[in-house]
Amino acid sequence: MEMDKLVSLCKRRGFLFQSSEIYGGVNGFWDYGPLGVELKRNIKDAWWRDMVTGHDDLTKAEGAPEPYEMTGLDCTIIMHPQVWKCSGHYDLFHDYMVDCRQTNKRYRHDQVSGRWVEAKDKRIFATAGSDSDSPEEDITRQALKFFGLRNKHIEQLQWDGGITPLTDIKDFSQVLGPHAKELGTLTEPREFNLMFKTTLGALGGEEDAAFLRPETAQGIFVNFKNVLDSTRVKIPFGIAQVGKSFRNEITPRNFTFRSREFEQMEIEFFCHPDSSQKWYKYWRDRRFQWYLDMGIPEGKLILREHKPEERAHYSIGTADIEYAFPFLAEGEYGELEGISHRGDFDLRSHMLGKLDPNSEATPMEVELNEHGKPKYRGSGKDLTYRDEITNEKYTPHVIEPSAGADRATLALLCEAYTEDEAPDDKGKMKTRIVMKFHPRIAPIKAAVFPLVKRDGMPEMAKDIYRALKKQWNVFYDEKGAVGRRYRRQDEAGTPFCITVDGQSLEDQTVTIRHRDTLEQWRVKADDIVGEISKLINV
Ligand code: ATP
Repeated sequence: MEMDKLVSLCKRRGFLFQSSEIYGGVNGFWDYGPLGVELKRNIKDAWWRDMVTGHDDLTKAEGAPEPYEMTGLDCTIIMHPQVWKCSGHYDLFHDYMVDCRQTNKRYRHDQVSGRWVEAKDKRIFATAGSDSDSPEEDITRQALKFFGLRNKHIEQLQWDGGITPLTDIKDFSQVLGPHAKELGTLTEPREFNLMFKTTLGALGGEEDAAFLRPETAQGIFVNFKNVLDSTRVKIPFGIAQVGKSFRNEITPRNFTFRSREFEQMEIEFFCHPDSSQKWYKYWRDRRFQWYLDMGIPEGKLILREHKPEERAHYSIGTADIEYAFPFLAEGEYGELEGISHRGDFDLRSHMLGKLDPNSEATPMEVELNEHGKPKYRGSGKDLTYRDEITNEKYTPHVIEPSAGADRATLALLCEAYTEDEAPDDKGKMKTRIVMKFHPRIAPIKAAVFPLVKRDGMPEMAKDIYRALKKQWNVFYDEKGAVGRRYRRQDEAGTPFCITVDGQSLEDQTVTIRHRDTLEQWRVKADDIVGEISKLINV
């Protein structure tokens, strides 16, 4: 599937719009249209239902070491600034950027790649940025242009080694920036904190600086004690949260994949240190299965365990669930969710102050300033847990499955997009676009049509519409040829269309048409609510 086809369908049918589009849009921000809002809400609801409200506290889930409890939270976006100092985000949540003095373009340092090449007795490092769809071709084009060579003289380019990231290059003087004409126009990499900064109150000095949360997780950690004290949950248990997060990404791109405002669906799962590895494995596999259940085929989904050097400083184990997004090169995958074993890093940091991220030792120590005092003061509150039965007191370990609602939505949009052949009103085979959403997440569950706008068909169809509307988002349409109405619903991903025709008025039956198989069959109008319920709860 070509990505631009999906992007155009999303706009045409109201799944996604660029934010503030009438003013030219703003990079990295997206609005969900009438169909998109339903789709994304269904995905978040499915996650919440499967992880939280539908979770059976009493039974041991398959693969779990023992039964566990789940509960939810909804925390604020702006929190006490100390939260971000102790979590490490204030000092460490940054990317490096490089600017091109010639083109005024900005790149993430780790997303520029290049290759050493020699021609006409000169050796340069030709590059391509993250805006390039095929770095290899763009690097070659850059090199040819720089040396003033035509394509037919391509053999004059003497390549030295393969494509390597710019992060491997120390001296930029021989680097040709991704769109530059001269060498050495890229600046030295500069640190750039990804948190959006804002000011609390009217006076607003540096002391009133606050941040929009870059993840929902911290709200859960700082409420750990509140949840323990207000409920009867016992370890092992998880706290879930769905909500907006903000990151001032240097190069937002790939539709909604990398946005500056997005929604996360996160769980912090608290367990005893001795069983934490088992829980880590459980959550990794459980979350992987969830995406399969939502309709992503196994061949397009991978579970990638991080190498030790790739992991965050606090992490004992991290795995990503990744999907073969169509905008990526063959064999490449994009992250949908990260599952991380965070040890006791977060709770200890919020108790004691920022832990030293460079310390190899566990438990890690508080980072001290030049006066030997904690660099950032912790809350000083006791965030440990006492086991009522064994009386053991310990700081729980945390497993964090952290998913992006927008990335899940984008993956399911990509997966749903299908072009096939179906007969039109005159029985002629025509290409149709159909969004094959799992019925559970389809924005509209069923559409109801009177075949024609007379003879009492609209009245009967409206009664059916009203009966279904009590439970689901259904759509009524009486305009135009019925074949065209079917096609519109195919594009919206509506799994079932119900049509009232001449026979319906005689025998009180209607047809149901299946979006994917195009099969049609008759059912009694009185049974329609039960029928649709059976069909969408598959
Ligand atoms: P990436 O490496 O792609 O920047 P990350 O490893 O920084 O992602 P996490 O901090 O683990 O991401 O965040 C958890 C989840 O939040 C990600 O798996 C992703 O689904 C979502 N997410 C993170 N950043 C963005 C973003 N800029 N736009 C949309 N979703 C995001």
